[in-house]
This record gives sequence, structure tokens and C-alpha cells, in this order.
Amino acid sequence: MKIAIGADHGGFELKARIMAAFKDCKDYGCFDPEACDYPDYADDVAMAVAKGDADFGVLICRTGIGMSMAANRFQGIRAALCRTVAEAEIARRHNGANILCIGADETEDKVAYDMLNAFMSAQVDEATRHVVRRGKLERAKRLSDFSLLAKEDAEVWAAIKDQVEQEDTEINLIASENTSSRAVRLAAGSVLMNKYAEGYPGKRWYSGCLPVDAAEELARKRACELFGADHANVQPHCGSAANMAVYLATIKPGDTILSLSLDQGGHLSHGSPVNFSGKLYNIVPYTVNRETECLDYDALEQQAMEVKPKILLAGASAYPRTIDFKRIREICDKCGAIMLVDMAHIAGLVAGGAHESPVPYADFVTSTTHKTLRGPRGGLVLCKEQYAKALDSAVFPGMQGGPLENIIAAKAICFREWMQPEMKEYAAQVVKNCKAMCKAVQDRGFRIVSGGTDNHLFLVDVKQKGMTGKDAAAALDNAGIVVNKNTIPYDTESPFKTSGIRVGTASITTRGVKEAEAAKIGGWIADILSDITNVELQQKIKAEAAKLVAGFPVP
Ligand SMILES: *Cc1c(COP(=O)(O)O)cnc(C)c1O
Repeated sequence: MKIAIGADHGGFELKARIMAAFKDCKDYGCFDPEACDYPDYADDVAMAVAKGDADFGVLICRTGIGMSMAANRFQGIRAALCRTVAEAEIARRHNGANILCIGADETEDKVAYDMLNAFMSAQVDEATRHVVRRGKLERAKRLSDFSLLAKEDAEVWAAIKDQVEQEDTEINLIASENTSSRAVRLAAGSVLMNKYAEGYPGKRWYSGCLPVDAAEELARKRACELFGADHANVQPHCGSAANMAVYLATIKPGDTILSLSLDQGGHLSHGSPVNFSGKLYNIVPYTVNRETECLDYDALEQQAMEVKPKILLAGASAYPRTIDFKRIREICDKCGAIMLVDMAHIAGLVAGGAHESPVPYADFVTSTTHKTLRGPRGGLVLCKEQYAKALDSAVFPGMQGGPLENIIAAKAICFREWMQPEMKEYAAQVVKNCKAMCKAVQDRGFRIVSGGTDNHLFLVDVKQKGMTGKDAAAALDNAGIVVNKNTIPYDTESPFKTSGIRVGTASITTRGVKEAEAAKIGGWIADILSDITNVELQQKIKAEAAKLVAGFPVP
């Protein structure tokens, strides 16, 4: 077992004697008895343990207090200042300490050796109560991640604290949201945000871009590897910007885009009249079949042959069924359109193999990185090699200045996370949970758009039960179940009221929820929607919901 050892001048001599007794020590200084600053050595030893270069750390100063304070600032470090062998053992067993701090003035050599032996040989106790307590130690209700703000800016701190509390206590079923990993959030908040980096890795308009070049190159390479794409541009600030980049790279204002109508599940940036896309381009909407509420590929083909669009856009924000990309490719080939797939909603299912990938078929694939893909809030474009240059110049200098390199680094982390085998299970579980929840609602007599779901979301027709989507969502919100109102195909209500709600399972699945809980939540949704003015029932379910999610802590 490898031990990283460090001391200041007060612990210098004891360190030398411990190193003589324990051959596996690697010395992180100090290297002479001159007066020095203990945090410098604590930093190096803590990093060695945090990185996994050492199994344990030992830090020594006169009292051990400064060293333990310094080491405990590091994430992943638990440094214990011990005076007795029993304390050293329990610090490891119960608290999972990984650095032993020793006060040289207070500790006999023999006690120091015995403490280190006890520390290293004790097994970390895996009894549930200790695991739970250590989890709390690590995260301190997630408040420890940003406690510095409480004094620096109490108002912003309060907003973040409220979001933490909301995530901890509510059931988030917003289909376009997820719960990003701590690693993703760390990169997103990192110093990489300080760098201006107009251009691309190796060809920047600013000096000093080597670190961000490394991050962006990783993100590009990993995106290509994860999705099997020729080329990736990871700079778009959001999904709408990713779509804009493709339009800019390929067509002229006034050209025709054939895309799914917004009120049937399309997205603003697919040609809504209030969006740049609808203002700049000639948008022709296609629709789902009135009976099946599914895409009708034959009708789409006929329309495409009449319209001859420059771009045929597939992809949606509220479509609960799989999309047949092969069929859309055939239509594009026939009518001569560029095939653009916006997989913003299903990117995680694609990455995890729970939905067929559009990448082999499409000329361009755009996405957000924060929905089922579970990364930072941002955009992504993948394309065939022949379009790489046009795409890159459309993003920069075409439509953006400096990229958000902190967010790009977080995207790189997200892509790597998806290469881990457990993410395949996650993607499959998102769909299983969605089917289970959908069935629970459907079994209680609610009409589900298209009769069910193949992916991470389903749409409930609440109008059929005499309420608007707006009122249904508000009633659920009172019970701590968060969904959004949504238009359903051929909706007769205004987009502000709507006839439906959209329900998604990406976020709760990240927290570890399985089909049994998903079905239970579905039952609650049915309970509330069967009696939306029953405030007492909403209160009761809110308490039960909070209890349920408490068992599935946010990562
Ligand atoms: C969410 C979404 C986008 C983009 O969203 P931004 O808010 O701009 O990041 C684009 N297309 C579809 C289909 C979406 O669902």
C-alpha cells in the first residue's frame, strides 16, 4: 500500500522516523527543517490521495490541527487528526478517513507507528448507517459545494440553495431536463470560463489557448467516438444555436425547410414564426397522422416530393415514439433534401443504445447536451466529413464569438460518462420507467397521445377529462410533481393553456428510480388529475413524494 507523507518543519523529524519504519512512504516534503507553511505540503499529499497516486496519506505538524484543516478542504479527502490508536482505527472504520494527521509534539513515536498500522489495516465499515453518514460527510446536503457564496452574495446563494432544496424534495418529470453529475458541474464552474478562444483547437485568434485546446479536442474526439460521427462541433451555446449553425452552413434565407409543426411536437428553432428560423426561412410544416398521432412517412414523402425542401428536419420536443431515420433518409434521397436530425430530446437514448442512431443516415445531427444526454446546458452538431468546414465556419465566425470552454470541458466529461457500460442500463431504464409510469396513468382511464411511449416521455390528453394542461400541471406542482403543460396533436386550446401535459423520466432515472416507483408516481399523477381541486390530497401526496425521493439522493 502506497502512503503519501508530508510535514512542515514541526513534523520534519517525526516524518523521517516514520519513513524509516514504513518503507512504502513517498515523501512530499518538507525536505529540510527550515520554517515553512503547512498548507503547501497538505495540498500535495491531499492531491496525491485524491488522484489515487497513494492509498493513504500522513500529514504531520506540531499539533496536527493545521494539517487536518488544510487537507479537508479537498474533495474526496477525509483527514483525521488522531491522538490514540483506537481513534485512528475508528476514523478509518466509521468515517472512512484516508489521511492520518499527527501532532508531532503530542505523540510518542511508538503511538505514531501503531496508529498508522491500525489506520491502514482497519476495514471501512459498510453497514448502511455508516455508508449514509459518510455520504452526508462528503456532500453536506450539497450545501458545501457553494458555501463560500453565502457570505459573498447571499441573494444568489439563496437562489442556488432553493434549487438544491427543490431537487431534493420534488419529483422532476420535465422531459427536457436531467440531473447532471457532480463531475459535469465541476467542469462547468471551472477556470476554463476565463479563457477567450475564438477559432478552433490549433487555430485560435488568441494566445494562451493550449489548455482549452486540450479540453475542446477531447470533447470533439469523444463526441465522434460516442456517436460514430465523422465530425463534431461542440461550440454551439445551445440547441437552437446548433440548428442555426446548420441552416447557415447549408441554405440561404428564403429557402425551404420541411419540419414538424411546433404544436405537434416540433421545436421553436424548427421554424416557429416568432423564432429566427421562421423569420429567415420558408418553413413548411408537416404533421402527425390524425388517427395514430404518429409520423406518417408515406404522407411525408408525398409532401416532400411536392415541396422539394432544401432541408428535411426530423426530431421533436414532444414526440413519444421512435423515429424511423432510415425511412427519412430514403425520402431525402428521393426529394433531394439535406437530412437534418435534431436529436436534442433523445440524444441520451441514442448514446445508450435505447433508440436507433440517426448518425449513419443524416447529413447533420444537432443536439442539446443537457436533456437525456445529462451533460451541461449546451449544443452539439455532428456531420459528415464533407460538411465539416462549412459547419465550423458557420458556428465561428458565422454566428458566435468565443466558445464557452468550461461548458465544452463539461461536455467532454459527459461524453466520457456515456462510454461507461452502466449508461446503457441507464438509457434502457429511462424507457422502462417511462413505459411503467405511462401504463399506470393509462390504466386509470387517461388517454395517452399515440396510445403509449417508446422513449423517455409521454403525453397525457387532459382535455378529454375536462381540464387544461395549464391547470393539470399546476395541480401536480402543488403535490411536488413537476411536469409541463404541452400541446397535443391537433390541439384546440391555446399554447398557453394546452390540452396536454408532457411527462419524462430522464431525471428520476438518474436518481436511481426503477419501474415500481415509476408506476407509483404514475398512480399519484392519476389521483391528482382525477380530482384537481383537492388541495388536501395534493398536500398528502407532496409529503409522500418527498419521502420517496429522499431515498434516491441527487448525485
Ligand atoms: C430543447 C430543444 C432544442 C434546443 O433547445 P435550447 O433551449 O436552445 O438549448 C432544439 N431542438 C429540440 C428538438 C429541442 O427539444
